[in-house]
Amino acid sequence: MKRTGVFYHDVCGKGAYKTLAMSVEEGFQSLERENVLSYPNVIFYESKPADEEVIGKVHAENWISYVKGTPWWEVSLYSMGGAVQATEEVLRGKIDNALVFGGVGGHHAHSDDAWGGCYFNDSMIGIHYARENFGVKRFAIIDTDTHHGDGTRSLASGDEHILHICFCGSFFGGWMSGEKTGDRTKLCFSHGFSDEKELENVKKEVPGRVEEFKPDLIYWVFGLDTHKDSYGTATLTERCYPKLAGMIKETADRACDGRLIVKTACNAPAWATAYAMPRIVDLLAELGHFAGEST
Ligand SMILES: [Zn+2]
Ligand SMILES: [Zn+2]
Repeated sequence: MKRTGVFYHDVCGKGAYKTLAMSVEEGFQSLERENVLSYPNVIFYESKPADEEVIGKVHAENWISYVKGTPWWEVSLYSMGGAVQATEEVLRGKIDNALVFGGVGGHHAHSDDAWGGCYFNDSMIGIHYARENFGVKRFAIIDTDTHHGDGTRSLASGDEHILHICFCGSFFGGWMSGEKTGDRTKLCFSHGFSDEKELENVKKEVPGRVEEFKPDLIYWVFGLDTHKDSYGTATLTERCYPKLAGMIKETADRACDGRLIVKTACNAPAWATAYAMPRIVDLLAELGHFAGEST
């Protein structure tokens, strides 16, 4: 069995950027309700706020000062803190993989600008922290949120040790930005407009590329705004997410000893999040808690 860390803080649940992070608290509570946190190989961490200095490695001082003046400062600190802590624990070997609940997003955050419920870029802050403190170099970021990860793309551009595979095509901010033909480490692909098609697209574009790239660690930007009752591509059912998780976990197992950080902002209705999250922890930690359930 794998050791899985779950990172959450009430500030992220109660102070979430509401419309975009609809059900963070319910997503976490569903883990308690389904008892997946009671397994000894599932370790709960209360997220700590990120150090401003760590954020400053990726973001401009004037942007940090600006965010400080918004209502999203505290929730941003705790959301980034969870991602940094998860990176640290995975690279220390304390846990194999992690599920991190954020109250804000991250992939639309540039160095000195952001939009769409994002303020700071969690994956890029994690990568910077990992490189500085653990000497690891290569990272894969898999982004299955509806929207194009424009902030991540701009911050990672020119860095050939970061593989950024982003599913965003045919949707606002995606291929319209003309980035489909970036270099071989910066790629965008289309979403599938059904569970089956989405899984097929991810299977086609992710495992082979990531295994060949050989990252030290994988971040999965797990946006649920692709859910049929959310505000994005709105075509997937909640049943798709554990299957996606299974595929990405297997990829991590083969590519980098299972080192995987799943970062979510729970941007789907509570009932969909409550279905997906316990099953994702089940898969990450190889619990078999939901074994036998028809899918
Ligand atoms: Zn999105
Ligand atoms: Zn994209």
